[in-house]
Amino acid sequence: MQDACVPRAHVNSSESLDMKATGTVAAMMFVCVAASTAAAQNTKPRPEDTEVWKPVPAVVTPGRTDLDAPSDAIKLFDGHDESAWVSADDHSPARWDVHDGLLTVNKKSDNIETKRSFTNYQLHIEWRVPEGITGSGQARGNSGVFLASTGPGDDGYEIQVLDSYNNATYVNGQAAAIYKQYPPLVNAMRKPGEWNVYDVIWTAPTFKSDGSLDTPAYVTAFHNGVLVQNHVALLGPTLYIGKPAYKAHGPEPIKLQAHGDPSAPISFRNIWVRPLPDAPQVHVP
Ligand code: MG
Repeated sequence: MQDACVPRAHVNSSESLDMKATGTVAAMMFVCVAASTAAAQNTKPRPEDTEVWKPVPAVVTPGRTDLDAPSDAIKLFDGHDESAWVSADDHSPARWDVHDGLLTVNKKSDNIETKRSFTNYQLHIEWRVPEGITGSGQARGNSGVFLASTGPGDDGYEIQVLDSYNNATYVNGQAAAIYKQYPPLVNAMRKPGEWNVYDVIWTAPTFKSDGSLDTPAYVTAFHNGVLVQNHVALLGPTLYIGKPAYKAHGPEPIKLQAHGDPSAPISFRNIWVRPLPDAPQVHVP
């Protein structure tokens, strides 16, 4: 195949060239040199080769402080009512105590869970152990946040809520533990009477069509702004007794625990969630 940049006048050397032909050849060679230079430049990596401009990320207006819900959050409790919640056991209206902008556990009732179900999300939740709390170990301000409620009672994946301020217990059962699976990296607990904050990234497990596990659940969590769980892979739902094992499920509610320990009930406030996409939407080429 003939090179497109070699003028035909040069291929046939026996052909005599008049001035006009010489001018044409010169012009063609100029074009070819320019094209070669352009080609060389095209093969050289450029900054813009790896720039992505679309889709443009949605604008989210942050809260007034980093504790407050951003504009795209779903408020699960904003101090007014518990209408976003139902009994985890029979799905009747939640019967916890709403007062003074707080949601306090009703230990005579059962766990409560959200009416809505979620897959992957960012959760913000604040909780307070009452001043003067009594008891020890697991019987001192015990509650919990189930990141996916897979059934009634304590079925699901619990990040522990407990008074872990000067209160020894098994470390994979202290506050901010993934119950019986991962202790927190550190103990960032505030003392009773002060508010604690969890910010959690939940990545739901995925399952194959035959129901077997495809990818495990992952949790990243901050306790009072301190990293306590760093993308840990869960072994299955959290269990009080026995070894965890996955069972296929879909989107699930978020559940709060009414634990039966005899200590005074804890309170929650300012609960919001931001559903997240299943996977990153944009890849750099
Ligand atoms: Mg608990």
